[in-house]
Amino acid sequence: MGFKLDETVSKNNQMMRRDLEVVWHPCTQMKDHETLPLIPIKSGKGIYLYDFDGNAYIDAVSSWWVNLFGHANKIINEKIKTQLDTLEHVLLAGFTHEPAIELAHKLVAITPNKLQKVFYVDNGSSSVEAALKMSYHYHLNKGINKPMFLSLTNSYHGETIGALSVGDVALYKETYRPLLLACLQVPVPKDQSQDSAHEALEALEGVLSTRGEEISAFILEPLVQGAGGMHMYHPDYLRGARKLTEKFGVHLIADEIMTGFGRTGKMFACEHAEISPDFMTLSKGLTGGYLPLSVVMTTNEVYQAFYCDYNAHKAFLHSHSYTGNPLACTAALATLEIFESMDVLGENEKKSDYIKMKLEKFTELTNVKKIRQQGMIAAVELQGYSPQERIGLRIYEYALKHGVLLRPLGHVIYFMPPFVITTEEIDRMMEVAYEGIRRLN
Ligand SMILES: *Cc1c(COP(=O)(O)O)cnc(C)c1O
Repeated sequence: MGFKLDETVSKNNQMMRRDLEVVWHPCTQMKDHETLPLIPIKSGKGIYLYDFDGNAYIDAVSSWWVNLFGHANKIINEKIKTQLDTLEHVLLAGFTHEPAIELAHKLVAITPNKLQKVFYVDNGSSSVEAALKMSYHYHLNKGINKPMFLSLTNSYHGETIGALSVGDVALYKETYRPLLLACLQVPVPKDQSQDSAHEALEALEGVLSTRGEEISAFILEPLVQGAGGMHMYHPDYLRGARKLTEKFGVHLIADEIMTGFGRTGKMFACEHAEISPDFMTLSKGLTGGYLPLSVVMTTNEVYQAFYCDYNAHKAFLHSHSYTGNPLACTAALATLEIFESMDVLGENEKKSDYIKMKLEKFTELTNVKKIRQQGMIAAVELQGYSPQERIGLRIYEYALKHGVLLRPLGHVIYFMPPFVITTEEIDRMMEVAYEGIRRLN
């Protein structure tokens, strides 16, 4: 396995060259590709991705946290093929279709009880935008102008202007600061302990009690901050945040775009704290990693604030061309069917325990600062390197050469594999990472 860099005639190389002539890749300094090979993927099966030269890679990051049941999953493929021959797309304003109806009912049934309405969007960031607009508009419809949002330090909610505004990853945000919305940040609990959760709740109460009247909503990633380096905190923080936001008349938006659909050990991370937010955004795992789709789930209370005789200022006039696409809704229905027909969460619990055991070994390495885990998400934080050393990139290259796709976030190496990974494959994935980290010294 590995690159065949010297074979300039390899299919991979041909594809790479042809790509770099015209494609501008996301989240990438394109000049890096003068030396860093781009990997053209020909096909996928289960947890494996295959390039054009026949190399296989374990997709340890679930293709950016979206894939749940493997690539080319038989059940999902079948359902999409059938839907494709029935209806590929129709607008969702004035019209509807069966997959959108059925999916909305299922989502209402499985999400926390106060969430009773489903607004379809088509990607994660846009669902965050829609939730922010809805929350602001709700208060306006109630006669109050609250032009401010609150979020956690180190948070990530996407990269469109509104979503970027409530995020706090400097790397993505700094350049665009003059363009962003007015937002406040409160400190995220510094670790997974209960004490840190309570300490952070005190700061939240301080801000809500002094600025609560200006704030429409408090948005957070429940339990795990993904792009912020897989930072994790205790469910007590969610319980406290729910109570405080209620007390001060501020909406709580749970951004479960990454944590939803079993990633954290329960179907939704909010369940660890048994809370029901005012809004929940879902995407990524929603379609099992197949197609772009997202939803904003909200309460009857919010819905009713927009429900009245026609008045252009009161209705939620927000839309996207591909809102509620039938193929994407079908992929989501197929994904939920897998959850219904198999004990996914039970199996994941066993796999999480196994990952936990394997993770311990990393603490032997002197360049490992901390390990942490929440369900099917595990992270190894390194210490002693400056950002200029681009340690993450070195691990990425090492792992690829050994058949594993890892994509470290700075000095945090993490594992977020598709749920269909086996214990032998977990061994392989973690051994390659271990060896990559060990060799840094
Ligand atoms: C990925 C992500 C988003 C953005 O979703 P996109 O589909 O990439 O726009 C928002 N919030 C969280 C927590 C995410 O992990």
